[in-house]
This record gives sequence, C-alpha cells and structure tokens, in this order.
Amino acid sequence: DKPGAYSNDDLRTADLFATLASLSLENIQLFEEVQNLATHDSLTQLYTQRAFRNRLKEEILRSSRSQTPLAMILGDIDFFKRYNDTYGHQAGDELLRTVSRLLVHHTRPVDLDARYGGEEFAIILPNTVGSHALEIANRICTAIAAEPFVFRGKRTNVSMSFGVASFPQDATSESQFIRVADERLYKSKSNGR
Ligand code: GH3
Ligand code: MG
Ligand code: MG
Repeated sequence: DKPGAYSNDDLRTADLFATLASLSLENIQLFEEVQNLATHDSLTQLYTQRAFRNRLKEEILRSSRSQTPLAMILGDIDFFKRYNDTYGHQAGDELLRTVSRLLVHHTRPVDLDARYGGEEFAIILPNTVGSHALEIANRICTAIAAEPFVFRGKRTNVSMSFGVASFPQDATSESQFIRVADERLYKSKSNGR
C-alpha cells in the first residue's frame, strides 16, 4: 500500500522471475505436445504401436503381480487395398478414422486402442477374461458390418477380422501374446474374413 515500497532492483527481480516462469510453462507445454506426437497416430489419434507395446509390457507385469486377467484384440480391415483402389486413398483414410471411432466407442477408458499398422488395430483390455474380450470383438465386428460407410452418396460394405488372446492362458510374454492374437486373426482371415 505504501508508495515507493519497491525499488528498481525489486522490479528487476520480479521481471526475471516472470521470464523464468513463462519459459518453464512453455517448456511444459512443448513437452506435452511432443509426448502426444510420439505416442499418438496423427490420422486416427489412436495410440501408436510403440505406445501399445510399452503398455502391454506394463499390463503383463501388473497382471502377473496382481493375478488378474488381461486380454488383447488384434483387428485388420478386410480387402482394404481394394477399398483404396475403388474409392480412393482419401476415402480409405476416412474409413480408418471411422473404424477408430467405433473401437473407442466399444471399449472402456481403461482400455488402450492403438493403430498397430496401416489398417491393423490393437486393443489392450486390462482385467478382462478372454471370453469377454471375444464378446467385445464380436460387438465391434457387428458394428463395423452395420456402419454405413457412405462415399459419394453410395453405401460401401466393410468388414473386419479379429484375433483375441488372453493372459495367462495363451501367453506370458508380450511377443508371444501378440503372436497368438495374430495367428488367430490370420485364421479368421483364411476362414472367410
Ligand atoms: P486382407 O483382407 O487380407 O487384410 O487384405 P487387405 O487388402 O486389407 O490387406 P493388404 O495388406 O493387401 O493391404 C493393405 C492396404 O492398406 C495397402 C495400403 O495401401 C493401405 N494403407 C495402409 N496405410 C494406409 C493409410 O494410412 N491410408 C490409406 N488410405 N490406406 C492405407
Ligand atoms: Mg493388414
Ligand atoms: Mg487388411
């Protein structure tokens, strides 16, 4: 309240403090942005394969320690190359985004939805038994078959194949876990997609 209570030195100190604080805040924001870019796919905003693998390792450790079940789903869009060839790459991109939205819609916030590769997706379901994961995969499968992927006013048909694996029944390591789900996905492909 007193006029002249602060000296020019005090002003410089406050100024320096504000500069340092704003630089720190900017760094935090940049760090979060880089972190998000490193773990999320830019087209679909799902997690990347790397983030998926890291989380899978963690969840396997957690499940072994707490003796809780763990499941994963691998999915692959059927005849996606043909879809691109027929409707164009942009329509293909739009399809990838719609499928991603459906995956997020049918999973819980504790689950992790990832774009595993081009048109391949992976889901980690903590605290979930295999039979329940299979049910969820079936629900997603039905939702995708029912989704009207409209392109230039025309309805296009899309289907997706899945493979489900669960811990500890099918695998105890991350690579084995993925291999089993992949083998089952391949089986559902060869059984007619
Ligand atoms: P299958 O039923 O056996 O899975 O056949 P498929 O055609 O789905 O599989 P294939 O591996 O032959 O083709 C995958 C295609 O996915 C080829 C590639 O051009 C396309 N693709 C990969 N990433 C993207 C993307 O980001 N956008 C678009 N539009 N296409 C992509
Ligand atoms: Mg594929
Ligand atoms: Mg495919």
